[in-house]
Amino acid sequence: MKSADRQLNSRRRFQQAQELAAGVIGIDSHIDSLQRVLVMGEDLGKRWNVGHVDLPRLRAGGVRAPFCALWVPVYFEGAEAIRRTLDLRDAMQWLLEKHSDQIELATTAADIRRITKADKTAAFLTVEGGHTIADDLRVLRMYYHLGIRSMTLTHSKNNNWADSATDTPEHNGLTDFGREVVREMNRLGMLVDLSHVSDKTFYDAIEVTTKPVIISHSSMRALSNVPRNVTDEMLWALAKNGGVIGICFGEGFVNPSDAEALRADIKRETDATSFTGRALDDHAAEDVRKLFGTRVKVAATIDDVADHIDHAVRIAGIDHVGIGSDFDGVSGPPNGLEDISKMPALVDVLVRRGYGKRDLKKILGGNFLRVIREVIGK
Ligand SMILES: [Zn+2]
Repeated sequence: MKSADRQLNSRRRFQQAQELAAGVIGIDSHIDSLQRVLVMGEDLGKRWNVGHVDLPRLRAGGVRAPFCALWVPVYFEGAEAIRRTLDLRDAMQWLLEKHSDQIELATTAADIRRITKADKTAAFLTVEGGHTIADDLRVLRMYYHLGIRSMTLTHSKNNNWADSATDTPEHNGLTDFGREVVREMNRLGMLVDLSHVSDKTFYDAIEVTTKPVIISHSSMRALSNVPRNVTDEMLWALAKNGGVIGICFGEGFVNPSDAEALRADIKRETDATSFTGRALDDHAAEDVRKLFGTRVKVAATIDDVADHIDHAVRIAGIDHVGIGSDFDGVSGPPNGLEDISKMPALVDVLVRRGYGKRDLKKILGGNFLRVIREVIGK
């Protein structure tokens, strides 16, 4: 085939995949772009050539309902963590109000259907890191009232009631209070997110919860052996629970040759600081700028991501797999999936691997929508 023909073919296939994606509710269960709004003051209503996500690129990628993470670094402790969560919630509010013609807050599965039907982006709010509730269920309840519908029990370090996957075990999983957090999230109608937690915390949470859980951004440990990824046993438990995993695109998550750098990163993870207030914000701003300023050369490819999807589907079943890219939270997305507008290229790879329309609908959002409906009740 001549190279011009090949180019035309691949453009046509991309278009076909884009059309296919347009017919489904694209859900991505972890996007970190709010950091860019809060720290850099970037208006995500316009298309940027930096970062991975903005409203125009979400549209191009067919991702109509992103989970917008309020990610609070673990060096924000106690009241400072609550303040940071509110600052991020405020950044989200600014975006919702500035572009009310393009994006709207979604707190239920019905909202997601209604908002996407009106051709707008449905923003589903999540909190990253259980340290943000400062060991107080009243704070958790107020987050719910601010429209937040999901929380990862930990981030990169243990908190006072749960062990993290990337820290030395301290509580042997969940403490009694940690179990109470899970029960309160069940009662309120918040998704219990088990990305970032230790294996023992995962199994403890699965045992306590009466509702399906999510793993918003992790991949397969069988293919890339990092503690942030999940084992096949965890996938079986997830399937039994009725939950869903969003496959993470982070280079070390999906490609073993990039995993060494990820493991070193985990070791380097920023330690506690004595800063508070403005000085703490400046410290975090520097961190975020560094993350967004870093361009790393990665081995990971779009086919690696598809391999992780294949593996998850094989082990957990087609009803328990989704997408949780971690765009704007990773420095080196895979080749071929450089930002969220490239999602149709992944759809195309999956089509060529034999996934039919029904399967794709589930992976690209249907499974997450089901879990949202089951947990929130509407
Ligand atoms: Zn994360």
